[in-house]
Amino acid sequence: MRRGLMLLLLFLPALAWGPKGHKAIVQYAIWNLPEGELKSLLTGWEEELKDASLDPDRRRNRVPGEAHRHFFSAELYEPWPFPSFPMTLAEARSRFGEATLEKAGVLPWAIEESYRSLVRAFRAGEKAAILRAAGDLAHYLGDAHQPLHTTLDFDGQSWLNGGIHALFESTLLDAYFDERADYRPRPARVVDEGALALAFAVIREDYPLVRTLNEELWKVKRLYSEFDRRYYQALWRGLFGEIARVQLRRAGGRLASLYLTAWREAGR
Ligand SMILES: [Zn+2]
Repeated sequence: MRRGLMLLLLFLPALAWGPKGHKAIVQYAIWNLPEGELKSLLTGWEEELKDASLDPDRRRNRVPGEAHRHFFSAELYEPWPFPSFPMTLAEARSRFGEATLEKAGVLPWAIEESYRSLVRAFRAGEKAAILRAAGDLAHYLGDAHQPLHTTLDFDGQSWLNGGIHALFESTLLDAYFDERADYRPRPARVVDEGALALAFAVIREDYPLVRTLNEELWKVKRLYSEFDRRYYQALWRGLFGEIARVQLRRAGGRLASLYLTAWREAGR
């Protein structure tokens, strides 16, 4: 990769997965849905839904309160293994205060809120509202599957791994990822535990991967310079590629499950 491009990538704000990853999650969700009315509906709106899943990043810098909906710095709430994350936004607010919430992020509650909006939109049967809520839910759930969105150490700062965030979520995907080649079905299920409990479970599942990614980057940095093509190839063929593919598939499976659950809850 050219030096100029690499430097540019380092200074982009963290967008989680970039457009390629977010769109793949929507694609996987549609593929994972059981045959029926919901699958036909979303298949018909596939391109619009993929585009809607990028909207939360587009409005990130202009809508007040949006920026901190994309991440959750888990350590600011409690130490690993996070046994008692506050379960409602009201509870979190009273325990930690608004300033901490803004710093630590409110991603799990953004997932829950989008899910509730989707139930209402399915009930009303309005296309624009469905696309907005389904796109938001796809986006935030996707962000939750990017392990570096679950930590204060979001860009490998404490590991001296600055740049790891964009490298993992977009540089490598743009260069190597092919959603068709990497798809494996994860059939949708009804999410009995609810969207919020699912979101917290995702955070707990992701968090240990922060260390794995940082250790792996050091392993590869000892072998190649970042201006050597083999550096990127080694990362993609190794754990970076594997974790990215697994996380995108998990997100696509869970998104299908939340779509299906919202559809049922709306009585459709
Ligand atoms: Zn985002």
